[in-house]
Amino acid sequence: MHHHRRISIARILMAVLCTLALTLGMANWAADLKRPIQAAETQQAMGAIYASEYYGRGWTEWVPDNKPLFVNGSYPTAFKAGLSNQPAGTTGTIQYEVNVSGSGWTGTYENGQIAGVEGGEMPLEGLRVWLNGNLADLYDVYTRVMVEGQWMDWVMNGAEAGQVGVGKHLDGFRIAVVNKGEQPAEQVAAVDPSRPMVALTFDDGPSQYDAVILSALESVGGRATFFMVGNLVGRHADIVQRMAADGCELGNHSWNHDNLSRLSVEAIQSSVQQTNNAVQSVTGSPTTVVRPPYGATGGNCMAALGAMGYPAILWHIDTLDWKTRNADQTVNTVLSQVRDGDIVLMHSIYAQSADAAARIIPELVNRGYQLVTVSELANARGGMVPGAKYGSFR
Ligand code: ZN
Repeated sequence: MHHHRRISIARILMAVLCTLALTLGMANWAADLKRPIQAAETQQAMGAIYASEYYGRGWTEWVPDNKPLFVNGSYPTAFKAGLSNQPAGTTGTIQYEVNVSGSGWTGTYENGQIAGVEGGEMPLEGLRVWLNGNLADLYDVYTRVMVEGQWMDWVMNGAEAGQVGVGKHLDGFRIAVVNKGEQPAEQVAAVDPSRPMVALTFDDGPSQYDAVILSALESVGGRATFFMVGNLVGRHADIVQRMAADGCELGNHSWNHDNLSRLSVEAIQSSVQQTNNAVQSVTGSPTTVVRPPYGATGGNCMAALGAMGYPAILWHIDTLDWKTRNADQTVNTVLSQVRDGDIVLMHSIYAQSADAAARIIPELVNRGYQLVTVSELANARGGMVPGAKYGSFR
C-alpha cells in the first residue's frame, strides 16, 4: 500500500515536471521564432533574391539584391525570385514571367515559384519582374539582363528585359528593389562636370585587398579604376564582379605584367586581348582602358594599343606605395598633392595600400572631390582618343 502510493506521488511529480519543462521549452521556442523577424524589420532593407537554372549546370545559389548572376559557357532555362526582409504589414510579393525560346511568355509566377522549364533545353529570351499589393506603391523593382555577353540597360516594374524573338538568349540577371523613386546603387552617383573630381587607380590586382578598397568606395558611393593583370582575374572572379557591380572601371594591365615596349605588335595585342577576354568572361564587360606595366609606352606599344582602340593611361600622382609599404606616407602623398583632374597611382596587392585607400577615400569626399573612373574623368574633361597617352586631366 505505502509502496504503491509512493510510486503514484512520484508519477504525479514526473508529470508536473514534464509539463513545466514543456511550457518553458515552448516559451523559448516562441521567442526564437520572433527574433529573426524583429531583426529583419529594424536592420535590413528589403531586397530581391533570385536564382536561375542553367543548361547542363543546374540551379545556381540564390543571389542577393543587385548582384550580377550568370554562368559562363551556358544559358538559363528556368528562373525564380523572392524577397528578403519584406517588412511586416506590407501586402503582395514579387511576381515575374519569362519568355522561353520557341514557346513565348509563360504567364505569371511569384515568390519562389519556378518560371520556365526546369530541366529543359530551350533558353530564356526575356524576363519581366514586378511587385504587387502595396509593395508596388512603396518600392520600385529594377531588372537588368545580360544578352550575348553585354549588360543591357535597366528596366523597371514589369517592363520587358531582353531581346525577344530575334534568336538571342539571356546570359545573366540583375534585380534590384529600391524605395519608390530611388535608383539601383550604381546609378545614384552621376558625375557633375562642374565639381572637382579625382580618378584613383589601383594596379597589379585583382587581389584579396581589393575588398577593402571596394568597401571604402561603396560606403561613399565612389568609384575607381582597377588595372588588372589578366592571369590573376580567374582566381579572384568574385572581386572582379564586385568591381563591375559597383561601377568601377575594368582596366587592362597586360596578361603577365609584360613590358609592352619590348614586344611585337602581335604580342602586345595578344597580351591585352587575353586579359580583356578574362575580364569579359567573369563580368560580361570588356576592359575599357589600358595601363602599360612600368608606364613603358615605347617601341610598338602605342601603335599596337591605338590599333585596338585603346588610349594608354599613365598617372600624375605616383604614391610609390609599392616601395614604401607605409600607409601614412601614401596617405600624405595623395592628400598633400591632389588637385582636380588628377589620376592617382596606387597598387592593389599590398595591405598597407588598401589601408591607405580606406583613409584617402573618405577624406577626398570630405574635401568635395567626386571619386570617378578614368573614363568618367576623361569624358568630363574633353575625352580621349585611341593611341594617345593621358596622365592627368587638370
Ligand atoms: Zn604594374
